[in-house]
Amino acid sequence: MPLIGKVKKRKVYFSAMKICFATNNYKKIEEVKAALGGRIEIVSLADIGCKVELPETGDTLEHNAFQKARYVRDNFRVDCFADDTGLEVAALNGEPGVYSGRYAGEPRSDQRNINKLLKALNGIPNSGRKARFRTVIALLLEGKEYQFEGIAEGEILEQETGDGGFGYDPIFKPEGFSKSFAELTLVEKNEISHRGIAVSALIDFLSNR
Ligand code: IMP
Repeated sequence: MPLIGKVKKRKVYFSAMKICFATNNYKKIEEVKAALGGRIEIVSLADIGCKVELPETGDTLEHNAFQKARYVRDNFRVDCFADDTGLEVAALNGEPGVYSGRYAGEPRSDQRNINKLLKALNGIPNSGRKARFRTVIALLLEGKEYQFEGIAEGEILEQETGDGGFGYDPIFKPEGFSKSFAELTLVEKNEISHRGIAVSALIDFLSNR
């Protein structure tokens, strides 16, 4: 079952554990490394010689996360985890959701995705701009499969703010904050973000084995 909770400082007693993070997004790798603080060695796809775009053809985040992780495990024989994230906008009935990366079509472009979303919400006041990021992490370890989840609630801003982060960060304002994700430091974002929460659950799991 997914474990959702706040990121806390904790003692972790495992060491020398090496896991591949099955993503081609180096920004995600930076975020996860910052959250782990060196407690687990993260190996990238490049490190294991995987140069292809991983398959993600499902219509749920869960399907895609497991599809990517299984591809890497089956082809490269390594323990690994993969994440899939969607931005679910209430006024758009949960869209773009699992299609967030390809929202404005191929080739994928963060800027075109942002433009399309701002256009779809044009004229809708703050009260109607509720959204959430949801991340699913699929972990394949020693022949078993596990799932973790993290959710960050917030709203879509009317214009881009800040130049940090990636993806939809400049137009997502997390609940209780006056800044966008793109204005937060990596550490601040990790404490409240969908991926930070899911990674925290992953760390809890690994440290309790
Ligand atoms: P995926 O999980 O890499 O497939 O991401 C799906 C879409 O969500 C892509 O457009 C990403 O840029 C975007 N995305 C994923 N995580 C984040 C995040 O933490 N902030 C902003 N956008 C994100």
